[in-house]
Amino acid sequence: MSQIAKLLPGFNCGECGHRSCRDFAATLVDVNGLERCPILKQDRFSGRAEKIAELLAAQSEQVEIIGVLDGLHADFTLGPLPGEPSCREDLHPFNAKADLKDGEVLRYRPLGCPITHFARILRYEQGIATVHLVGPVHLINGSLMPRDIGICMVVAFEGVICKGKRPDVGETVRFLPQHCMMQKVHSGVVVHSEGARLRIEAIDLKVW
Ligand code: SF4
Repeated sequence: MSQIAKLLPGFNCGECGHRSCRDFAATLVDVNGLERCPILKQDRFSGRAEKIAELLAAQSEQVEIIGVLDGLHADFTLGPLPGEPSCREDLHPFNAKADLKDGEVLRYRPLGCPITHFARILRYEQGIATVHLVGPVHLINGSLMPRDIGICMVVAFEGVICKGKRPDVGETVRFLPQHCMMQKVHSGVVVHSEGARLRIEAIDLKVW
């Protein structure tokens, strides 16, 4: 039995959607998946989730991450913060007169990317819109009327590392945003790190 399976409760109760703890262990790819085991939250199992997280992190460091479009190697994949639909992007519109509002849905094309994106604004401050991706277009609810703001500079990403190694602050990294429709490797500089949570700025599609 794997080390991870041994750390699970061993109840084989099926609450997680699997017939046994061992089957569940085989499907775990990141720590967020542990949410599916309610038993692990009981006090008697305290500390187990942290140990499993360490084992998963060690496993994921050995995983090879390669962009589909460019075949480049990435250091890690970046997924959403807990409870969010995609990792966050910070956009700077080239239209200086764009007066954006929180909650608005935008249509834009990131500079250097051939794909039109659709995103909802979480916050608009100092000319920067922090958004979650809500498209491609066929996934958008018909009642939403996206506002077209043309080409935007994507200046930052924020999310959690799902697979791969954790970088240090100040490091130039190659990463694969999980929501990227082309699965293209991006590069940038880590400016904040808190556990698996990262903020990466100076985003570039010409990979460094
Ligand atoms: S919910 Fe937890 S205890 Fe129950 S089978 Fe799944 S992993 Fe095991």
